[in-house]
This record gives sequence, C-alpha cells and structure tokens, in this order.
Amino acid sequence: MKAHIVTLPGDGVGPEVTAAAVAVLKAVAARYQHAFSFDEQLIGGAAIDACGEPLPGTSLAACQAADAVLLGAVGGPKWSDPNAAVRPEQGLLALRAALGVYANLRPLQVHPALANLSPLKNEKLRHVDVLFVRELTGGAYFGAKTRSADAATDECRYTVGEIERVVRRAFELARGRRHQLTSVDKANVLETSRLWRSTVQRLAADYPDVKVEHQLVDSMAMLLLTQPNRYDVVVTENLFGDILTDEAAALAGSLGLLPSASLGDGKAGLYEPIHGSAPDIAGQGVANPVGAILSAAMLLRHSLELETEAALIEAAVDQVLRDGPRSRDIGGSAGTAEMCGAVLAAI
Ligand code: ATP
Ligand code: MG
Repeated sequence: MKAHIVTLPGDGVGPEVTAAAVAVLKAVAARYQHAFSFDEQLIGGAAIDACGEPLPGTSLAACQAADAVLLGAVGGPKWSDPNAAVRPEQGLLALRAALGVYANLRPLQVHPALANLSPLKNEKLRHVDVLFVRELTGGAYFGAKTRSADAATDECRYTVGEIERVVRRAFELARGRRHQLTSVDKANVLETSRLWRSTVQRLAADYPDVKVEHQLVDSMAMLLLTQPNRYDVVVTENLFGDILTDEAAALAGSLGLLPSASLGDGKAGLYEPIHGSAPDIAGQGVANPVGAILSAAMLLRHSLELETEAALIEAAVDQVLRDGPRSRDIGGSAGTAEMCGAVLAAI
C-alpha cells in the first residue's frame, strides 16, 4: 500500500529515536512491498530556532495532509525560560488540538525479561498488559480559567459527545483484546464524573460482549500498584489519565520502552514515545529507541491498518528485549544504533 508519513523529530533525543523508528518502517515497507513516503518537518525548540514559532504553518499543513505523524520529543533547557514568549510544548498542544486527536492510547506491558527492573517485586504482579485510553482534548486542562489576587478556578467541563467518542473507542479496543473495560472516575464527588459514568453505562448496552467495571480514581491509583495484572483496557478523563499513565509508566522499568498513539476521527493519528527529550543524554547516541519503534508499530496498526506488520515489529522488539543487546536504561551498554540494528535484524 501507499502511505505518506510526516516525521517531527523535534528536540533532544527526539531526532535519534525517530531515525531508528523510520529505519524500522522502511525495513517493513521493503519486506511487504509497501510504498511509504517520508517528509521531515520542524516542531518544538528546533522550530523556534529556525523560524521563531514552535509549530510553523508548513509543519501543521504537512501533518494535516499526512496519513500519519511520527513525533520524537519537544523541549529542553535551551527553551525553558519561564518568561519566554514561545515555548516548545505549545507546538505539541497546538498540533494535538489541530489534528483533533481526542483519544490517547498508552499500552503498558512489563516484559518478562525486564521484570527485575520493575518496582513490582511480587512475581505474580509482573504479567501486566494494560491499554490506557485517556481523553486528551477536554476537561479541566481546556476549561475556562480565572485568577484573582486570592483565588483561582479551572472549569472542568465534558459534553456527552466528548465522553461518548472516547468511550466508544475504548470499547472497540477492548473487543480486540480481552473484552474487559475499566472506567475510572470520581463519581462520588464530581458532576462530570457522574455524567461520565452514566454515559459508560448507557453505551455498555451496545457492547454486551465487553465486561465493564467502574473504579474511583483514588482506589485505581492503589490498584495499579497492587493488582495491575487485573486490567485490560482502562478508560478515563484527561486529568485522571495524565496522572494514572505516569504512575503506570513507572511499572515498566524504563520510560524509554513505552509508545503512545493519539487518535481522532480524522485521518492522521499522532504517534510518539512517552518519554521526553531527555536532555541529559541527548546527542550521545545512547537513547533507547524502543518506545519510538513501538510507536511506529502503533502507527501501522491504527492509521494504516497493517496489523501483521505491526505485530512483526512488536515480535522483533520482544526478541531483542529477551536476547539483547540492551541499552543503558535497561541494564546494558548498547547505543541507539545497535538497538535499532538488532530490531532490524530480527525483522
Ligand atoms: P518531559 O518534560 O518532556 O516530559 P521528562 O522531564 O519527563 O520530560 P524525560 O526527558 O523523559 O523527562 O527524561 C526522564 C529521564 O528518563 C531522564 O533521565 C532521561 O535520560 C531518561 N530517558 C528518557 N527517555 C529515554 C530513552 N529513550 N532512553 C533512555 N533514557 C531515557
Ligand atoms: Mg514528563
């Protein structure tokens, strides 16, 4: 098949891990005779340096015309002056909003060969395979804000439509997995959470094959640490999802391993590793490219519907994590290129 992919390497280790992910996509294209074209564009601090804004119009237009967008990371100490007029992170927020990507998918697996890196010491807790679906474009982060000398407010607002579209996506994803959906809210206290819960309950009738469970966010924070292997798909609103997915990421052992996808109803999904620009190791060729490579696998699955090819990449990564080589963050000494080369060899 033909597909046009825009890459936004961004800052710090972003260009290093994005290059690895592109190499893997090219290898898959060669093996299955797909015609993937790639177009590299600026975002973040790199874009500020080149043209004074974190998301240039040319970058946005290219993303909107693409079949999928693969991003590295944005930000770094060079652009983190709190008084600066423009900041790299604004580019990413503007891109998510412009692409309308309301569902943020973060799979979490604890690889058996890396279980010793996870803070979970109980053996039984290590077979974790959870897919978080976080609402990404509503709630308190986007509501009206006020500030006076002695008070501040952040309005948390959700419409039924905003809840329905992300919850339906989560139900569909559960159907492709173990048919369990956990919806997380704070329905004992918050009105938006009561709307969230009643919407999930109503939609559940359309998915009788999916087992639905509701958890309050405070108890979910605890359950993720005590019984993470109980969960399949977890869906929640923006703020709760932000906190729970960072908590969950800690269980995997290294930030460098985890991918993400942000999806809307439009064509172009946005794919990026969950780690940041890692300025402390940028430019050294030692970043773990696995999070970016698995993000490329998600791109093939969700934007291009190439499930076989996505699974091939995941199997190759699995093999490398089992047999080595390993990068520094997971207890080895391999660099980015060596890790990428091993994944390519496994493919
Ligand atoms: P952001 O503010 O962009 O979210 P952050 O403050 O969460 O970034 P990261 O940039 O993700 O932080 O880095 C956190 C730590 O994890 C750093 O020590 C970094 O070196 C390490 N790290 C992040 N990504 C990787 C990677 N791909 N390989 C190895 N180590 C990584
Ligand atoms: Mg962070």
